Amino acid sequence: MPNLQADTPVEFIKGIGPKRAEWLKSELGIYEAGDLLEHLPFRYEDRTDFVEVKDITSDAIAIQIKGVITEVKQIPTKRGSRLVATFKDHSGTTLDLVWFKGAKWMAAQIPALQKVVVFGKPAKYQNRWNLPHPEIELEDSFERRNGKGLQPVYRTTEKLTNRGLSSAGIAKVIRLLLASPELVLAESIPGFLLKELQMPHKADAMLMVHAPQNHAEAESARNRLKFEELLLLQLKLLMQKREQTQDMPGVRFEQVGALFNDFYSNHLGFELTGAQKRVMREIRSDLNTGWHMNRLLQGDVGSGKTMVALLTALLAIDNGYQACVMAPTEILANQHLESFREALGALPIRIELLTGSVKKAARRPILEGLKSGEVNLLIGTHALIEPGVEFQRLGLAVIDEQHRFGVAQRSKLWAKASPAPHVLVMTATPIPRTLAMTAYGDLDVSVIDEMPPGRKSIKTVHRTDGARLSVFQFIEDEIARERQVYVVYPLIEESSSMDYKDLMDGYESLSRRFPLPEFRIGIVHGRMKAEDKDIEMERFSNGTSQILVATTVIEVGVNVPNASVMVIESSERFGLAQLHQLRGRVGRGAEQSYCVLMTGDELSKEARRRLETMCRTNDGFELAEVDMELRGPGDLMGTQQSGIPDLKMADLLRDREILTTARYIGNRILEEDADLSKPEHAILNQALIRARKGRTNWSRIS
Ligand code: ADP
Ligand code: MG
Repeated sequence: MPNLQADTPVEFIKGIGPKRAEWLKSELGIYEAGDLLEHLPFRYEDRTDFVEVKDITSDAIAIQIKGVITEVKQIPTKRGSRLVATFKDHSGTTLDLVWFKGAKWMAAQIPALQKVVVFGKPAKYQNRWNLPHPEIELEDSFERRNGKGLQPVYRTTEKLTNRGLSSAGIAKVIRLLLASPELVLAESIPGFLLKELQMPHKADAMLMVHAPQNHAEAESARNRLKFEELLLLQLKLLMQKREQTQDMPGVRFEQVGALFNDFYSNHLGFELTGAQKRVMREIRSDLNTGWHMNRLLQGDVGSGKTMVALLTALLAIDNGYQACVMAPTEILANQHLESFREALGALPIRIELLTGSVKKAARRPILEGLKSGEVNLLIGTHALIEPGVEFQRLGLAVIDEQHRFGVAQRSKLWAKASPAPHVLVMTATPIPRTLAMTAYGDLDVSVIDEMPPGRKSIKTVHRTDGARLSVFQFIEDEIARERQVYVVYPLIEESSSMDYKDLMDGYESLSRRFPLPEFRIGIVHGRMKAEDKDIEMERFSNGTSQILVATTVIEVGVNVPNASVMVIESSERFGLAQLHQLRGRVGRGAEQSYCVLMTGDELSKEARRRLETMCRTNDGFELAEVDMELRGPGDLMGTQQSGIPDLKMADLLRDREILTTARYIGNRILEEDADLSKPEHAILNQALIRARKGRTNWSRIS
């Protein structure tokens, strides 16, 4: 008899067969015995205790009684009929079993006058207990299959249920499989780890999770299985990370040179925050190891990431290398250019800008300067990674606002120099820690978790359209105090005419309320030419216009410290991350800033939760956690290239602790044995090989 193993196709499992195997694949993605076993129960029904009819209490969630069905009656109703069966427990007390649907079919199924076990949630009708739509099983079969105790409940689908694979059907197949003497389940976790973490062996864990004695046992088995899944994932990510860093040579920035020192002592103009200093130390140590840096810098909007980027660029230039900064939009690239030029002042550094709208004639000298090495710092958009752009000695690439950049684009950067340039990815969208450890598992993570001093936290309020007049008054008051105001409209789809209409209507009504010549209102949106956008942005940025009406083009990075009010129209249509990004446009100066979230009166529960969260906290990480709860990890990262692995058992939302342990253990093991070649790690190595060969979906991991 051949062995049954985790990779045995499900059609060869007893009780499944080719037809049902097809359905298991298409409905639940279960292809192999291992997938079936990893289809863990999502809850358990406690079938430990039997009650008697007289003991039923109104707080019972579900009850189980032994007895006999003595009579079955179909009672006609307006819409068909109801089925009522009289059930008698061993003391002779009766209870009605009731079916409101499928009465006729059910009538034929009822095993009258035989000993049965019934199970269901009791309900009271006319002062008498009954059990609507109960489960019924012959006592005989119940005993034979050992139905006492915790019964697993499995996720299934209607199609599967109709083909005999209801939760109970799946339970039966799994039970048979686990009882099969041919089943051989390879262990994936070495004995020393199981011992250290006090975890059961895999085969035991499978039994404990599918047929537990009690909830504690089920829980510990489940945690063990999740740990295995997360440990293998972390090992894979960490090994990949080592390949990209430890195993990938990087240029050495050995010295802190004249430019850095001059800038730091004469031009910086403020003291770095503790967090900025810490991050600079992390980066500097990366840059001097001789290996390639691949670091993610997370920090809330306004936390001073750009300064970190600039200082890092100076390190590169001081060491004779070029640096580039890649931004997701032209507006942002322009802003970076300006703020870098301003900050660097008279330092002998040649900075250039390269975006899609830099015309051929202007482009040539830039490209030549890059090739000859005369351009030290290049700022731009995607245009930077196009094939024609060649550097003499690119040593550092900074990618701002990572969530707009794909993994593929990141790797195009590596090809721009050999050895590959160090990569610093900056994101203002805080990512929950669990996600950072998986979606960006191949990056080192630095966090700026401290705001520059003197920042007041932004006051956020929610107002409905009914309060518009008072919001306008507030805007007027702020303008009277020489502050500036953003009014942002959602533009969910670039092409949506409805959204443009809202934007233009809003612009017009603001223009009536805030007329020339006293007030000047600017507008920017995606349908404008880049030059016109720049003109409007410049007018706002130099204070010529007091109100800027905009779509989300201003979402990312724009920096006008004098702006103190952010009004977000139809804010219920924005996600939390976007709302937070938008809010981050204000609160950049020393003034108290405000964010006004406008909505209609009717709000979905989720929208309400988003708005409440925004009003409650300014902490980007806290918002990110709520966002992940509301949307799930996949959506949070954007569908385009989510980078979230499909986890079968573990859950990034709930299993943070297990994930942290898995990452810690994974790191510890690789420190000691980078390629898992030591005999005590052989089991892990084999498990990883099996996982790679199998259909575990790791393909989307960066
Ligand atoms: P981020 O890119 O993280 O959104 P920025 O780097 O644009 O933030 O910083 C926001 C503002 O704070 C800028 O005007 C910047 O000059 C200023 N800033 C940065 N670091 C400090 C600091 N340590 N002290 C005071 N101001 C700072
Ligand atoms: Mg920024």
